[in-house]
Parts: sequence; structure tokens; C-alpha cells
Amino acid sequence: MTLGEPTVPHTGTGKSQQPTFSFEFFPPRTALMQRKFWRTVGRMEALSPAFFSVTYGALGSGQTQSVDTVKALCAESDVPVAAHLTCVGANRETLNAVIHDLRDCGIRGVVALRGDGEEPGAPFCAHPDGYQSVPELVTYLRGSGEQAISVAAYPEVHPQASSPEEDLLHLKRKLDAGADQAITQYFFEAEDFLRFRDRAIAAGIAKPIIPGILPIHNYQRVVQFSQRCGASVPTRFADDYARLDNDPQGRYEFSVALAVRLGETLMAEGVSQFHFYTLNQTDLSHAVCCELLREPQ
Ligand code: FAD
Repeated sequence: MTLGEPTVPHTGTGKSQQPTFSFEFFPPRTALMQRKFWRTVGRMEALSPAFFSVTYGALGSGQTQSVDTVKALCAESDVPVAAHLTCVGANRETLNAVIHDLRDCGIRGVVALRGDGEEPGAPFCAHPDGYQSVPELVTYLRGSGEQAISVAAYPEVHPQASSPEEDLLHLKRKLDAGADQAITQYFFEAEDFLRFRDRAIAAGIAKPIIPGILPIHNYQRVVQFSQRCGASVPTRFADDYARLDNDPQGRYEFSVALAVRLGETLMAEGVSQFHFYTLNQTDLSHAVCCELLREPQ
């Protein structure tokens, strides 16, 4: 079971092949969220995704919920599943035990991440006996037989990067350590991704870089959390969402149209694989994928 065929980086223009999708979920916490989650999974399976992924909680019970969710997803669905894992709050022995437990349950993919500090906005602080960096974690995963390893990339540069060049070099280190592909932070301007892809190729990165797409479910909330995670929201959206303040259907249709336009522009530049940040609200992602599949090839 692999996480889909790697896509070859592409600099030219021209329509890509039929798009493929992956969908990211977070672990549902309440019984109500669980019921919604499983309905959602069933609906997204019909789009034949390359893989589902499940985010990894910050600490303690959050991490246990992630592991339980990813195992349940692997048991219940035929779609390949990737577990996000971070270096936060665990020594190597503990994290390695999680990795092997997941593998014993049939999970063959990992999204290997550093993670952030325990408090919102706090910098990452490595556990003294833990993995100190993503390349170190990727080296272990690859050496111990992991089948499909993804890492994170930042088209608009990670907020803690010392420079765009260092940020890109760090991505290269993660891929050179053995990761198969990178999934980007979400972005709203196609140019940000396309310029980043060109810079990555110029820096010698030949592995696939999959664009992360976040359909906007709640404009204000997206503006708030984008400030922390290295993504900018175009200021022109503010007027559009303000105009649609009392029109939920209009906002929904506008958000779908924005993400479809972004996807179409990327497809015209040879992109054929997309990773959707669903935030477990899959109506938007589902509608966008259906539109992209309908595009004349
Ligand atoms: P890293 O790759 O270590 O680094 C982030 C940046 O720090 C780099 O881009 C680089 O600029 C700089 N840097 C780090 N080390 C060096 C070095 N040695 N030299 C120079 N520069 C360096 N968070 C969660 O808690 N759980 C999740 O499930 C989760 N899933 C995510 C999925 C995706 C696709 C993405 C894009 C992010 C996700 N995150 C998740 C958020 C992520 O944990 C944060 O963005 C975090 O701040 C950085 O993690 P990273 O793996 O990119 O870290």
C-alpha cells in the first residue's frame, strides 16, 4: 500500500492529467464529531483518494486520539492512511514504539513533522532524548522500513525560518534524508506555489511537492490562524466575505469558486495531485474536487 504514485515536478504549462486528491482530518473528539467523521469518510472514499491523513495532537490525550483515529481509519477504509507524527514531547523510545505500533496495524505512511511548542505560538523545544529535527526522524523512519514518508513545505516560507533560502535548504535536507514527497502549507495565490516549485527545482529538489489546499470554511478564523502558520490571506478577500456576511450559501459558493480557480490554475501548470485540509468539514473539499474532476482534460 503506497500513498499514490509520485508526481514528476513540472515547470512548463499545459493541462495536467486527471487530478488525484488526499484528505487530511483531525481526530474527532466527541461522539457527535465521531458520527460526522465516519459519514464524511464514506463520502470522500467515493473520490478514490490517494490517501487519507490524520493530524497528530500536541501532547498526551491529543496524541492518543490521533493514533486511535488513524488505526480505526486503516481498519475501516480501503484508502491508504498516513499518520502525522511530530517530534514534540516524546523521547525516541516512545515515538519509535508509536511508529512500530502503527506499522503493525497496517499503516504504511507517515507525515513526519517537527511540531510546535506546547503553548500556542511557543517555539518548538526538542525533548532531550527525543528526535531533534525532522531529518533525524525521517532517517529513522526510512531505515526502519517505512514505505511512504511525506514532510511539510512552506511556499510562503515558515515563520521561524532565518531566510527563504534556509527554509528551502531545510526542505531539501528532509527529502535527502529519505522522505518521498512534500506537502505544502496552504496558500491562496497560485503564483506563491509556482514560484516555490521553480525555486525548489533550481535548488535540486526532484521529488514531488503536493500543494495543500484549504477551502475557506470561516474567513475570520482562517485569517487568525494563518498569521501563526506561514500563510497569507489576500486582502481582497476581506471585501468579498464582508459582502457575504449574511449569506451562508453565497459564502459557501464563493469559497468553492476560489478553491476551484486555484486548482484550475495549478492544473494548467502541470499539477495533478492536491492535498486538502478538510478541517473535518468536507462539504467544501468534496464540491471543489468534483468541479476539478469535471474540468475538460
Ligand atoms: P521543520 O521542517 O523542522 O522546520 C520548520 C522550519 O524551521 C523550516 O522550514 C526551517 O525554516 C526552519 N528550520 C528547522 N530546522 C532547521 C535547521 N536545522 N536549519 C535551518 N532551518 C531550520 N503540526 C502538528 O502539531 N500536528 C500535525 O499533524 C501537523 N500537520 C501538518 C501537516 C502539514 C502538511 C504542514 C505543512 C504542517 C503541519 N503541522 C502539524 C504544523 C507543523 O508542525 C508546524 O508548521 C511546525 O512549526 C513546523 O513543522 P515542520 O515539520 O515543518 O518543521
